[in-house]
Amino acid sequence: MPVYDYVVIGGGTAGSVIASRLTEDPDVRVAVIEGGPTDVDREDVLTLRRWLGLLGGDLDYDYPTTEQPRGNSHIRHSRARVLGGCSSHNTLISFKPLPGDWDEWAEAGAEGWDAASMDPYFARLRNNIVAVDEKDRNAIARDFVEAAQKAVGVPRVEGFNQQPFHEGVGFFDLAYHPENNKRSSASVAYLHPFLDRPNLHLMLETWAHRLELEGTRAKGVHVRTKDGEEIYVEAAREVLVCAGAVDTPRLLLHSGIGPKTDLEELGIPVVHDLPGVGENLLDHPESVIVWETDGPIPENSAMDSDAGLFVRRDPASNGPDLMFHFYQIPFTDNPERLGYEKPEHGVSMTPNIPKPRSRGRLYLTSADPAVKPALDFRYFTDEEDYDARTLVDGIKIAREIAKAEPLAGWLRREVCPGPDVTSDEDLSEYARKVAHTVYHPAGTCRMGAADDTGAVVDPQLRIRGLENIRIADASVFPTMTAVNPMIGVLMVGEKCAELLAEATTPGGEA
Ligand SMILES: Cc1cc2nc3c(=O)[nH]c(=O)nc-3n(C[C@H](O)[C@H](O)[C@H](O)COP(=O)(O)OP(=O)(O)OC[C@H]3O[C@@H](n4cnc5c(N)ncnc54)[C@H](O)[C@@H]3O)c2cc1C
Repeated sequence: MPVYDYVVIGGGTAGSVIASRLTEDPDVRVAVIEGGPTDVDREDVLTLRRWLGLLGGDLDYDYPTTEQPRGNSHIRHSRARVLGGCSSHNTLISFKPLPGDWDEWAEAGAEGWDAASMDPYFARLRNNIVAVDEKDRNAIARDFVEAAQKAVGVPRVEGFNQQPFHEGVGFFDLAYHPENNKRSSASVAYLHPFLDRPNLHLMLETWAHRLELEGTRAKGVHVRTKDGEEIYVEAAREVLVCAGAVDTPRLLLHSGIGPKTDLEELGIPVVHDLPGVGENLLDHPESVIVWETDGPIPENSAMDSDAGLFVRRDPASNGPDLMFHFYQIPFTDNPERLGYEKPEHGVSMTPNIPKPRSRGRLYLTSADPAVKPALDFRYFTDEEDYDARTLVDGIKIAREIAKAEPLAGWLRREVCPGPDVTSDEDLSEYARKVAHTVYHPAGTCRMGAADDTGAVVDPQLRIRGLENIRIADASVFPTMTAVNPMIGVLMVGEKCAELLAEATTPGGEA
């Protein structure tokens, strides 16, 4: 039976950071259990511009959603099955979470996770976070930036991570190497330089299917290799669950850690009654408005969605409350289902809800670990209809931007929803039915105060009521960051590594 000091389950975004930091100490032995293969020498994975080709393929766990009566029931949630996790197939848009995001976490009981305390972890990140390179800045994206300034009256931002902002339009920062368009993913930045460390043991294409506990103490994990071999891997110090916002609660539930009655109904022996597991499912849904362009547009770009806009409609809001990605492609996957055509040449703006109010839930439908969990995001179900109204406002703002020069000169006509769709009711219906995800599920093992019975982990990321086991990934987010979450996840990884170091220092951890 292999024994390591730490067993990291999931070599994804946060897991790569933690494994890298732990193995800086040559005396600490770490195993990483990763469901996917390596990304080393995989040009299809490492080339940022090829990200769309990875979705739905062999390297995607590809989770469906349950029926969404007020939204789009056809949304599929891509989750990467490869070293580096979702940072190996995402678009690497890199935003340091805004101060209001962290402070909201602290207010929700995550003591020590306020903005001032979290700031140093951003400086530690090993990823190459740079502004979209000049050569990658497409002419039409530049003109979107200029038109949005005029139409919406927001400032142009060069370097969104330089200082906190409420509003602004500009090119994003990306975690990439502009000279060759290669990713600076979690695996590239945190694992590739250290693969020869003798104390780092990667178990690739190996699936963790059940945690082993002795009473309330986590001991290890049962895994299955690609060849079907069953292995039990033991952790002398701690088990770190970093399988992401879908697979972390899934693993906990299959291990008997979760809401007692749900587990009993499925015949899963209850090991630890923890009602919060799978609750608080968050996402950043967005809609889409598409224009046909007057002929082809230049092809240069970092990854086709290089610029964006943040708006604060409510001055009382402590951050942006509406966001747009600008796509240099006609993104009609969902509208086509409603009968819309795909123009040969076109662009899209995608109004997005930074702080959505709807809350969903992840749950099991079978005791068989091979059956995918149900993801019920309950999109657009918040009581005040805030989420849908945000998208309606977004479409109206998008139309104003499209009318402004220099963008207007590129656009031939609005394809979806089309100029005849104008009432709030019709815009809402369209916006919700074609809504898609930008793949930000989070919150399903949320962090909270140690005495918060709905929380899954405490502010030290320890699973409440258990010992020697922590969670570090997007599932611990108490609330959604207003900005794209990957940098927040990397910072969770850095903070977890520090908490682990403190825990081994006598008297170091509360
Ligand atoms: C297509 C796409 C585009 C995105 N674009 C952006 C963006 O531009 N900017 C941004 O900020 N965010 C973006 N995101 C979101 C961001 O990538 C994620 O929020 C973040 O990477 C999640 O990190 P994680 O550590 O929680 O999980 P992951 O990175 O998903 O890591 C989980 C790892 O665990 C492994 N695993 C899971 N279950 C098991 C198991 N049982 N046994 C063994 N291994 C297991 C998986 O293979 C995976 O490697 C995007 C996501 C996607 C999918």
